[in-house]
Amino acid sequence: MFGRAPKKSDNTKYYEALGVPKNASQDDLKKAYRKSAIKNHPDKGGDPEKFKEIAQAYEVLSDPEKREIYDQYGEDALKEGMGGGGGGGHNPFDIFESFFGGGNPFGGGGSSRGRRQRRGEDVIHPLKVSLDDLYNGTSKKLSLSRNVLCPKCKGKGSKSGASLKCSGCQGSGMKVSIRHLGPSMIQQMQHPCNECKGTGETISDKDRCPHCKGEKVMQEKKVLEVVVEKGMQHGQKITFPGEADEAPDTVTGDIVFVLQQKEHPKFKRKGDDLFVGHTLTLTEALCGFQFILTHLDGRQLLIKSEPGEVIKPDQSKAINDEGMPMYQRPFMKGKLYIQFTVEFPDMLSPEQSKSLEAVLPPRPTTKLTDMEIDECEETTLHDINMEEEMRRKQHQQAQEAYDEDDDMPGGAQRVQCAQQ
Ligand SMILES: [Zn+2]
Ligand SMILES: [Zn+2]
Repeated sequence: MFGRAPKKSDNTKYYEALGVPKNASQDDLKKAYRKSAIKNHPDKGGDPEKFKEIAQAYEVLSDPEKREIYDQYGEDALKEGMGGGGGGGHNPFDIFESFFGGGNPFGGGGSSRGRRQRRGEDVIHPLKVSLDDLYNGTSKKLSLSRNVLCPKCKGKGSKSGASLKCSGCQGSGMKVSIRHLGPSMIQQMQHPCNECKGTGETISDKDRCPHCKGEKVMQEKKVLEVVVEKGMQHGQKITFPGEADEAPDTVTGDIVFVLQQKEHPKFKRKGDDLFVGHTLTLTEALCGFQFILTHLDGRQLLIKSEPGEVIKPDQSKAINDEGMPMYQRPFMKGKLYIQFTVEFPDMLSPEQSKSLEAVLPPRPTTKLTDMEIDECEETTLHDINMEEEMRRKQHQQAQEAYDEDDDMPGGAQRVQCAQQ
């Protein structure tokens, strides 16, 4: 996106500042930055210049886009690219805060004059879909409203295309405020100028574009058709490039839909496989069964046992090619697993016991002698409610998880922890 000729330049300095190799992962960078930022923090007697250097290095390397530019063209390319300009463009305290949970809403900032375009934010929408949708494929029409550049003034906001320097921020687009966090801790924050909304420019009343009233952008309703393909997964992204909010001097970001699969009452999915539970009576488990299962596309599957086959409690069987269609290869399908539960009768009459024993496999042949029995201690088997016991255990686990969550430090605490 920065159409410049490659030139030789220093692109190792930032890595050296953080003490990491050039192929360091994001995780390595984060750890290295956290360590040296804490060590070199001016509040802890560190050298402010060194701290600034570390923060600058991390800001660039933690952003994959900036890192790529830096690796290829070096530091100078970034200065032009970010429009940081007069040295004070980036405030290490800002970065420190955004790193520990605060926010820095305006990545770039600075004057809009003569800088290269920055990239607008991507807009992420979760999109709920049923398992049926993912099995059969579907398309959903969604109406969204977004900002587009005013067609009359082409995003200039003025009739003439001219603009004046904002008096509120002297054209920088940013204002600085200072917050006292504690006796020895000051937090300096940059935020976009409220008078010019961070653009650094104002437009005179009589030159204002009447169509957008000088706002440069207007709201537009747009219908997007999201095609959900067969076999797509929970969490899969469907991207509409360049459909997010338009803004002057900005490359428009993407609209991204993230599929969220709703629970299905009958089927569970794992990858390309489907799982369904079925309960058999003891008679069916021992003497054979057949039943109809309605699939996700409405087809009726006849499922039956082989002659003489016995199904044991919690046994699973699989039907090949009746699982989920595979993404972009919908003619290939996973397996459909049937997980059997066998329902036993609660009691049998003495007659029933007798006739069953006559046909079932014999008991173990070793018979206990009276002597052996005399030497044993008597016990009693009590009924238990397994569900009840499971519920109690789950409740206990949930409670423990909740307590752990509670210990997670909040935003303000996090800053302080990091500086201790
Ligand atoms: Zn301003
Ligand atoms: Zn306009």
